[in-house]
Amino acid sequence: MNWDEFSHWGQHISRWAANYHQTLAERPVRAQTAPGEISCQLEEAPPETGQPMEAIMADFERIVMPGMTHWQHPRFFAYFPANAAPPSMLAEMLVTTIAAQCMLWQTSPAATEVEGVMVDWLRQALGLPGGMTGVIQDSASSATLSAVLTMRERATGFTGNRDGLNTKGALRIYCSDQVHSSIDRACWVAGIGENNLVKLPANGPTFAIDAIALEAAIQADITAGHIPAGIIAITGGTGVGACDDLNAVADIARKYDLYTHLDAAWAGSAMICPEFRDALWSGADRYDSIVFNPHKWLGAQFDCAIQFLKDAKPQLDTLKIEPEYLKTTGADVTNYSEWTIPLGRRFRALKIWFLLRSYGLEGLRTRIRNHVAWAQELAELIGAMDGFEITTGPILSLFSFRCPGDDDTQQRLVDALNEDGRIYLTQGMFDGRKIIRFQVGQFDTTRDDVLMAATVIREVWGKLS
Ligand SMILES: *Cc1c(COP(=O)(O)O)cnc(C)c1O
Repeated sequence: MNWDEFSHWGQHISRWAANYHQTLAERPVRAQTAPGEISCQLEEAPPETGQPMEAIMADFERIVMPGMTHWQHPRFFAYFPANAAPPSMLAEMLVTTIAAQCMLWQTSPAATEVEGVMVDWLRQALGLPGGMTGVIQDSASSATLSAVLTMRERATGFTGNRDGLNTKGALRIYCSDQVHSSIDRACWVAGIGENNLVKLPANGPTFAIDAIALEAAIQADITAGHIPAGIIAITGGTGVGACDDLNAVADIARKYDLYTHLDAAWAGSAMICPEFRDALWSGADRYDSIVFNPHKWLGAQFDCAIQFLKDAKPQLDTLKIEPEYLKTTGADVTNYSEWTIPLGRRFRALKIWFLLRSYGLEGLRTRIRNHVAWAQELAELIGAMDGFEITTGPILSLFSFRCPGDDDTQQRLVDALNEDGRIYLTQGMFDGRKIIRFQVGQFDTTRDDVLMAATVIREVWGKLS
């Protein structure tokens, strides 16, 4: 492809993109595709000779598009959102065009320096204290793994990387039973082991970790000869939005000198609104490591996870490695690849710069506030439906409900709703019962889109029951 053709197709695709978004609401949210339906339409072997872009694009529309689930659909209420605001998409086009590998300051000084400033803008936006630094990672899972490795190294006097794990006692990490599966996986991969991830019960209106049980578990472990290494707290758990009492957890961590990580992957974005901080964010400033995903609720195109660090040194002591071919000479600069597990890094900060400048914090706050208010309105409508029950009330914009009937009936309703196609939501488990999750967070969703869900649920339930 020559660059004139590139320019032609670039303009074509940018018009295609605008049209896609403008007509998205008419499509079913979730792909209505059977397994194998897409792959069987692809050639079995790669082509020997080049094909024209017209043919490739036509096949994209014919074969690929029917198999896509539309995460940018205004009635996407499943999982958590993955918003891609238009200015963020444009920044990604520029990043893709320049295609720099930004592992070191020297390999693109602007990428490193914009990243440093964007992490600091977001620190201020979330009401975190000056002095906290941070890094942009691909996902919350990677940031959490970095934090768990740091817990491991700190608890072993930074000998784990060198000697392997041969401590006399087992390293122990503590969290509530509401944490995301990425915490379990971080403990598997870090060599801590699932049995040494101590999950404590959560209770109260925000399903917070039981602080008395937490301290008792730490004391019992010390008595048993285990080695407590760290605590992972959550603000906005994936299931029902659980939020720990951050000060209570930080008090215990200080008492036992434990490293702390806070998983706010989804709810962190909402903390740009000061009114949510008193109840859900007080004490966040005391955490050694905090992760939040601007790629969920804030509008930065996937992928983009921010890890804030109170002091970067322990993580650098855990992850930094400097072979000769990566050494650079000259001034003292930040090389962010020393802060993370992958060496290579994309220029993720540019989309944050475009996003924050284009909307301003106030523009982003308005969206999040609307989502929270509309989720509350919808929960009231669903709670008033005959036999329906709100199982967990809204925490920010996430709530859960049940229709009349057993667990299988809940699943049948979820499946029927997703086959209907007008809305998309997913199930979860809470207190041993199946629940139906509902979150509001798509960037362009309107109050009508959200409230329409009540009508759709009523209609689809009417046909099922
Ligand atoms: C989404 C989510 C994660 C995982 O995020 P990735 O960026 O996909 O790794 C972890 N924790 C919570 C609370 C989440 O909502």
